[in-house]
Amino acid sequence: MQKELDRSDVTLITPDVPMSAGVHGGRAKCLQRLIRLNMPVPKTVALPFRTVHRIAAGGVPDTGAILAHFGPQPLLSVRPSSQDPDWGGPGAMLNIGMCDVRHAQLCDEIGERAATSLYLRFIQSFATHVARLDDEMFTPPDTPDHEALALALRTYEEEADEPFPQDVGRQLADVLRSMARAWEGTTARILRKAKGAPEDAGLGLVVQHMVLGVGPGDCGSGVIQFVDPLTGERQVTGRYLSQSQGRDALAAGSEALYLTRDPRGPSLEELCPEQFAELVACGERARARLREEMQIEFTLQGGQLAILDAIRVNRGSRAKVRIAVELAEDGIILPEEAVMRVDPQALSELLHRQVAPGAARDVITRGIAASPGAARGRIVFTATDAQASASRGEDCILVRRETTPEDIRGMHAAVGVLTVRGGVTSHAAVIGRGLGLPCVVGASDLRLDRKAKRLVAPDGRRFAEGETITVDGTTGEVLAGAPVMVEAALDGAFQQLLDWADDARDIGVRANADTPADAQTARNFRAEGIGLCRTEHMFFEPERLSVMREMIFADTGEDRAAVLERLLPMQRGDFAELFEIMAGSPVCIRLFDPPLHEFLPSDRQGMRGLADVLDLPLSDVEARVEALEEYNPMLGMRGVRLGVTVPEIYEMQARAIFEATIAASSRGAKVVPEIMIPLVSAMREVELVKTRIDAVAVNVYNETGADFHYKLGVMVETPRAALRAGDIAPHCQFLSFGTNDLTQMTYGLSRDDAGRFMSAYVKARVFPEDPFHTLDIDGVGELLTMGAERARESVPGITLSICGEHGGSRSAIAFSRAIGLDYVSCSPFRVPAARLSAAQLAIADRQIGDGLEVG
Ligand code: PEP
Ligand code: MG
Repeated sequence: MQKELDRSDVTLITPDVPMSAGVHGGRAKCLQRLIRLNMPVPKTVALPFRTVHRIAAGGVPDTGAILAHFGPQPLLSVRPSSQDPDWGGPGAMLNIGMCDVRHAQLCDEIGERAATSLYLRFIQSFATHVARLDDEMFTPPDTPDHEALALALRTYEEEADEPFPQDVGRQLADVLRSMARAWEGTTARILRKAKGAPEDAGLGLVVQHMVLGVGPGDCGSGVIQFVDPLTGERQVTGRYLSQSQGRDALAAGSEALYLTRDPRGPSLEELCPEQFAELVACGERARARLREEMQIEFTLQGGQLAILDAIRVNRGSRAKVRIAVELAEDGIILPEEAVMRVDPQALSELLHRQVAPGAARDVITRGIAASPGAARGRIVFTATDAQASASRGEDCILVRRETTPEDIRGMHAAVGVLTVRGGVTSHAAVIGRGLGLPCVVGASDLRLDRKAKRLVAPDGRRFAEGETITVDGTTGEVLAGAPVMVEAALDGAFQQLLDWADDARDIGVRANADTPADAQTARNFRAEGIGLCRTEHMFFEPERLSVMREMIFADTGEDRAAVLERLLPMQRGDFAELFEIMAGSPVCIRLFDPPLHEFLPSDRQGMRGLADVLDLPLSDVEARVEALEEYNPMLGMRGVRLGVTVPEIYEMQARAIFEATIAASSRGAKVVPEIMIPLVSAMREVELVKTRIDAVAVNVYNETGADFHYKLGVMVETPRAALRAGDIAPHCQFLSFGTNDLTQMTYGLSRDDAGRFMSAYVKARVFPEDPFHTLDIDGVGELLTMGAERARESVPGITLSICGEHGGSRSAIAFSRAIGLDYVSCSPFRVPAARLSAAQLAIADRQIGDGLEVG
């Protein structure tokens, strides 16, 4: 037999009684605050987590101690009170204490029909939620009369094998037990864990005197809040329903009253102006003192207002930002607190159109969420069709097995991209993020039937070219049809929040930007410069691609020089434009990286086209392409290896950078370009490239007489470069960790193929997360730590950064701060979330330092 619970398990909520969210739950604490604000809260007692836990384990609830607070024949409600109200809990139970005797009394007080209706409602909820009987047998009758009541009581007795309990103590004990057990159940655990609750999260319960909301005079119940839950704009929303209880008003439809005057119908403001004014005053007080936008549940009983409960207004991402900013602007919270209240994910959602919360989603399949935002359009299977579709003004989704540089134009033309293969750092993903184009990759359950021009879903559904689908790059889902969307929202509140974030932040945030459009986005999002410009992406435009191919096919040094002469002004123009857009902020240009064969056609038709352009026999083209093919191109002739073996390309790029520097500096802010060498693994590579670049700089200076400076840096993206960072550092001014390749090479895991088995690996917990998505602190992080330490040992104060895709994620930013990097660089559309994450981390550190509570 369990020990009887003692009286300290039951606390009457008064202004001064010790009460905390960590012991009694957020609802109990909130009710105490409302009481302290002199709001008319009915008498309430709170049961702490440990008591509820004991009840769930079989302990006998001390109902005597509870009931002692409420006088004879009380009617009570019980509500859950978890530590964080977002973790949920069992539904509220109302009207506990209804029995034959109480029913008879109520018939005199509020009339037989109303009393019977309350009794029937209680029997129904007790039967289904406590006695766990079949819901259908207790559907409330149309006419709540004596017979219906007799039938309900009889049905209960037959189904439960006992009469409906008439003792309030027994009813209350059963309700408490059933709510306590529901919290411990598997479903509830899974649901709250998904919302971030710890394994041992506790449940408190609050027992409150019922204010009926039913009876003579002005009686009813309602729910009021003072902001729009989607936009966060200040406005009263909610409903009130005469002769009702709980949240009935919200479900009532046209019988419910508006709260404020409304042309569509009568309102509480008109019907009960005094009570309405009191309610609004309570709302204002709650906002100012609870420092939050609250939704208030209230009742009128004979014209008297009672405040039953208040919870944080449930809100969408846009409202989250606006509410936090306006609370700070009104001096209710500090700007830093506003910064802490918005999760970076919410901010990212505002940058893109999204599927509206609550919209119906017909999920075809799930892939990897590679670039956030949602887009809907007609299916096209080739880049050419995407361009044709765009020229007709039709939105299209480009569906490919995987994308290659040749698809760039099509990606520009499409509103979203879906690939069957690939991971978070695959071509489609990187380009998609750069363009802010919603993108789902690695949807490997989809079958792509290119000949028949259709997609086959895992459930067998077929989607032909021209049919509309939606890609949700935020969740990774592919949806049939066109669900309702919400637009991007970069309003004043968004900008203000980020201004405050920047005041708090202590690590730089730059953007990875390859094109003027990317650079403009980076600047709009106030990136502090470009941390990585992948110059090979500048060659994907068709005109450039063919010049590039000519260069690759050049037989002699002379021929190559001639083609490079044609590429030079193009690159000079590219760089000058980037410098001008960035207006003096640093721009880090990475010299050419990928293997040459990536620029060559892979199919016969493409080769024939190339043979035409180059006026060469097809067999020559085929032979050349074959000769350039590598077994493992990602570990082959790319990056600095190309720079060492075909130095003219880097020399052309260096010249273009210097000439653009001179031109841009003469027109505006002084430019100090940063030149970065990719895929270095040995110090000597840096020496060789540096000597050539310095020579180009001297030549340009001699030719123009214009003075300029530049910085040379190395991308640390091979494990050896990290290990030998101490050797490499003295030859350059900065090092930037390319965590995409570094992850690939540390794990020996192909960036482009890992998507095929990654989910199986994560499911089997081989990896806790996809390491291309979440920086592997244990392994790759150790190389970063070592590299940073060794570089600084030999060159104290050398600039260090991360420019792989991880750079925008909170965990990578936390790690970068911990090892003292100077900045992170990420896709332009991730910059706002990165600025916010960086600020939150800095504020949290300071709060810990000051001994304050974090969060
Ligand atoms: C990297 O490898 O981390 C990187 C930024 O370069 P890329 O993705 O272009 O290989
Ligand atoms: Mg790389």
